[in-house]
Amino acid sequence: MSFDLNSLLRPHIAKIQPYTSARDEYSGKEGIFLDANENPYGSITDEDFNRYPDPYQLALKTEISKIKQVDPSQIFLGNGSDEAIDLLFRAFCRPGKDNVILLPPTYGMYEVSAAINDVETKKVSLSIDFQLQVDLIFEKVDANTKIIFICSPNNPSGNKVNRQNILYILQKFEGIVVVDEAYIDFNDEPSFTTHLSEFPNLLVMQTFSKAWGLASLRLGMAFASRELIQILNKIKPPYNISGLTQDTVLESIQNVGKVNRMIAEILEERAYLEKELSNLTFIQKVFPSQANFLLVKMPKANEVYQALIDSKIIVRNRSKVVLCEDCLRITVGTRYENETLISALKNVFSEIEN
Ligand SMILES: *Cc1c(COP(=O)(O)O)cnc(C)c1O
Repeated sequence: MSFDLNSLLRPHIAKIQPYTSARDEYSGKEGIFLDANENPYGSITDEDFNRYPDPYQLALKTEISKIKQVDPSQIFLGNGSDEAIDLLFRAFCRPGKDNVILLPPTYGMYEVSAAINDVETKKVSLSIDFQLQVDLIFEKVDANTKIIFICSPNNPSGNKVNRQNILYILQKFEGIVVVDEAYIDFNDEPSFTTHLSEFPNLLVMQTFSKAWGLASLRLGMAFASRELIQILNKIKPPYNISGLTQDTVLESIQNVGKVNRMIAEILEERAYLEKELSNLTFIQKVFPSQANFLLVKMPKANEVYQALIDSKIIVRNRSKVVLCEDCLRITVGTRYENETLISALKNVFSEIEN
């Protein structure tokens, strides 16, 4: 494979001079700061939020680097993974000309972001066991195909994608391969970040929204070659990660033990929920999951979805999605929540049957 990042990049992006913020031009901590039009008296809140945050989040990246074994220069932080997805489109895909490959059923943001950027999506559905159809994928690739999005473990099916197939695509495809690992912490395989040095076209996404329990803070990570990360840094909004988020996550990282305990508990609950659901005679299938949710097939999924809402239990209705007909996607909850769900399902089905 011949991969050339610069020829992939949209030409006008290559030429852009990034905005240099006040904090770019002077990054020292000591002094009288009269350069950024901040409020010198402090904030309206008890905590001080009056100074702009570090635009490159170096302290935070240094700590993330230690837990992910990736050099800080190979880490991009975004306002959620969604920001990295959008920036990739803007950097590499010419509106109305280029295309990307999506592998449904998969995470919906790739398609929305493509549409916002007026970029064509070519779709190659996963196989019935939710694996990559590698030959069909390469049949769709053309000279304007810039990105292939692979989600593993996949949302909404929950399975991990065959590693050898992903490696094959990384070797053969001359564009960027995104491996979205939002659910990596619930999975029993190592991250694709271990392959970063082999593949200049690899970009791995992870997030603090799931296992870390920090969805509200909005912090997504992208790991890739230094050159690719530099491109994302160049086009991102200067202060894309708030100081509050940077400080809070920096503190949280000192508490990896708690995250690991929560993950262990969620995995236990996943096994419990899987067993309980499988015991319900009306459930047709509980798909094996390497994530913190289960895809569950049942008759009259739409009706069940509505009836659950009436009992104030909200799950995700995926029954209109390819290969997920009659399926609901259910996040693993606490023991109490899971028990409540199971008994609600029993009620719903006894009503439907009568
Ligand atoms: C939840 C999820 C994300 C996370 O998005 P954030 O913007 O970081 O909250 C990314 N990808 C997939 C597949 C997800 O399910």
